[in-house]
Amino acid sequence: TLGELVLTVQNLEVVYEDVILVLKGVSIDVPKGSIVALLGANGAGKTTVLRAITGLLDIHRGEVTKGSITFDGEAIHRLDAPSTVAAGIGQVMEGRRAFAEFTVEENLRIGAHTADRGSVNAGLDRVFTLFPRLAERRRQMAGYLSGGEQQMLVIGRALMADPKLLLLDEPSLGLAPLIVQQIRDLIVDINRQGTSVLLVEQNANMALSIASHGYIMETGKVVMDKPAAVLREDEDVREFYLGRH
Ligand code: ATP
Repeated sequence: TLGELVLTVQNLEVVYEDVILVLKGVSIDVPKGSIVALLGANGAGKTTVLRAITGLLDIHRGEVTKGSITFDGEAIHRLDAPSTVAAGIGQVMEGRRAFAEFTVEENLRIGAHTADRGSVNAGLDRVFTLFPRLAERRRQMAGYLSGGEQQMLVIGRALMADPKLLLLDEPSLGLAPLIVQQIRDLIVDINRQGTSVLLVEQNANMALSIASHGYIMETGKVVMDKPAAVLREDEDVREFYLGRH
């Protein structure tokens, strides 16, 4: 139904190493089928939000100390990373790399999380249709791909598990403007195929150009929560995140 949420983060508090309070009550909603942007300066806590959703806090010595995370109607804030992937959350964390010594196709197969040939082949078909560059290079070692192609490959790898929700941590980082445009268009295509997206970006222009809603974080709190169209016109947002015109 209209307005149904695929993800709800409620009043989330996260502490690292038992003492460092990094999220101070963060609430975020992702409506089914939408693209939601999560913006903010370095160190605001965006990556920590994604770690909490994906069960990756443990390995960073972090812990959810308050609040809840609900995915597809189920409480997930106690799940580990393999369980969140199995539940339908795809993730491309910041700086995530392809396995350089494996071919493009092998990298994708690693993302499948199933041995079922039918669904693996369907996943490969989907990814190769979305990313023709990867289809051309399917037998090449991933280490020979350009930075943009490697980013496409790790996004494709996450899609192989057929996620309902895709979490992307700064997919445009370090890429040339033309490649950022391509990644942006791909996120739109992936979303049109039915995958909801939570997009963490420093590139607010790019993120707000495709998101329906945006959240802006500062030092562990959400300070703005508005439709993307409103944020694009907001004077403060323009000054701090979009460059003043
Ligand atoms: P960036 O764009 O740099 O990734 P961010 O908004 O994603 O920024 P986080 O990476 O979530 O921010 O970091 C939020 C705060 O938590 C920062 O002050 C960071 O130094 C701190 N932090 C992150 N990981 C840890 C950790 N494992 N132990 C202690 N502090 C951490």
